[in-house]
Amino acid sequence: MPHAVTQSCVGDGSCVYACPVNCIQPTPDDPAFELAEMLFIDPAACVDCGACVAACPVDAIKPHLYLEESERAFLEINAAHFAERRDRPSLAPVRPRLRVRDRGERIHVAIVGSGPAAMYAAEEILTIPVADVTVYERLDRPYGLVRSGVAPDHRRTRRIAGQLERIRNHPRLTMRLGVEVGRDISHEALHASHHAVIYAVGSITDRPLDVPGAALPGVSSATAFVGWYNGHPDFAGRAFDLSHRRAVVIGNGNVALDVARILTVDPESLTDTEIAPAALAALRASQIEEVVVVGRRAAAQSSFTLPELIGLAATPGIELVADAAGVEADDHDPKLALLRELGPANGGRRITLRYLLAPAEINGAERVEGIRFTPQQLTEDGAPQPVAGSQHVHLDAGLVLTAIGYRGTAMPDLPFDEQTGTIPNAEGRVIDPATGEAMPRTYVVGWIKRGPTGFIGTNKRCAQDTVAALVDDYNAGALSPPARLASA
Ligand code: NAP
Repeated sequence: MPHAVTQSCVGDGSCVYACPVNCIQPTPDDPAFELAEMLFIDPAACVDCGACVAACPVDAIKPHLYLEESERAFLEINAAHFAERRDRPSLAPVRPRLRVRDRGERIHVAIVGSGPAAMYAAEEILTIPVADVTVYERLDRPYGLVRSGVAPDHRRTRRIAGQLERIRNHPRLTMRLGVEVGRDISHEALHASHHAVIYAVGSITDRPLDVPGAALPGVSSATAFVGWYNGHPDFAGRAFDLSHRRAVVIGNGNVALDVARILTVDPESLTDTEIAPAALAALRASQIEEVVVVGRRAAAQSSFTLPELIGLAATPGIELVADAAGVEADDHDPKLALLRELGPANGGRRITLRYLLAPAEINGAERVEGIRFTPQQLTEDGAPQPVAGSQHVHLDAGLVLTAIGYRGTAMPDLPFDEQTGTIPNAEGRVIDPATGEAMPRTYVVGWIKRGPTGFIGTNKRCAQDTVAALVDDYNAGALSPPARLASA
């Protein structure tokens, strides 16, 4: 009875290290790991021991007989991953222990932020018996996007908060909530009381959509909408007008699918979730019948992942359709195959996926009334470009959400790369662009280090790399003892 990885996989690799026969791929030491949409179990090699089930923090792994009807596609997806890969080593990679030079002192590390990247970095540092960690979080609640980003109906994924809570409860970790670095405490003050400071501040704003009309009332970032339904303190007071028939979502990544699903799912199915009560009330009164999710490239370039598409297609009460014009035929691409199978109508609220349309202008007198798109074609290297002489496409809409990616913001006293929205770094060491040298005792991890890509678990490997750099610096004598001890 082989096991299969399903939709809620967060890719933290816990199962890989638990598997006695190395049948879960890609492994964190494989370059393919960072880009993988999920992990996969080789059905031919799985010995059915269940070690992975116990290790998975989000219950993503099931024996195949326990798969629900809507999850059965994952058996095939797991198996297909191994169709042409038979050369894997029979043992899983073993991570070496961190070795720290004994200087007869305790090591104090400050971590700024408390999302997954921060907590995984803390977990790694706490494997050093003489290390203490203080986590500084500006909000009065921890865990970043795990609480404020993961959709409330992704119940299994949200269970990762339990794993972060376990790390938080470590006796050598102190969590300081409601403390904003740069406002309540300076970078310099953190340095004065810690050997090193790791910034794990994520990408808290969104990429702006640069078209006329983008500032009209009724146009918002998906970041604000997600923050609103998840009760994020920065967005809890926002109001979204859901009194119109159609909403349009620009961009087609997993965030776009999340907001489209929340806008169309039966609100009663959300009552037992952690959705903000005000958002649930607004969704109950919503008049929205259709959400159109618009990509500027073709279906093959959709940014959403296959597991999320499968989950959306199986969501009861939602009619998911794809505009055939942008969906090419390719039997080898499971995403395209699923998109071609979608429909017909089943009478529920509808999500329509449209392709090859770039937003040109958002229209409206007092507030948004519609949006105009320019049809696109792809150049040889896959970039979208306007189709010469084509007619614009107009969609009426009372709500426009831009889901075109998150973006990091600058931190006081640290360099910032405006182009990428990240803090310049080499293997997690913050680099001063003026000198090209590493800034003393200052590190980054997570999205502010590498940009807003990957899954929750991707941050685990990212955190291990940053902490390895920090430990190398400590062993080389580059982390001088703090002027005064860290206070709890
Ligand atoms: P994303 O995956 O980077 O998608 C951004 C989308 O915006 C793409 O479709 C992109 O199109 C489009 N876009 C960018 N600039 C545009 C412009 N000027 N005009 C029109 N379209 C534009 O970003 P995301 O959805 O915010 O997700 C961020 C990360 O979080 C991803 O790694 C995602 O997988 C992860 N996430 C995961 C889940 C989950 O697993 N359930 C949920 C939420 C987020 P192009 O491709 O053409 O650039």
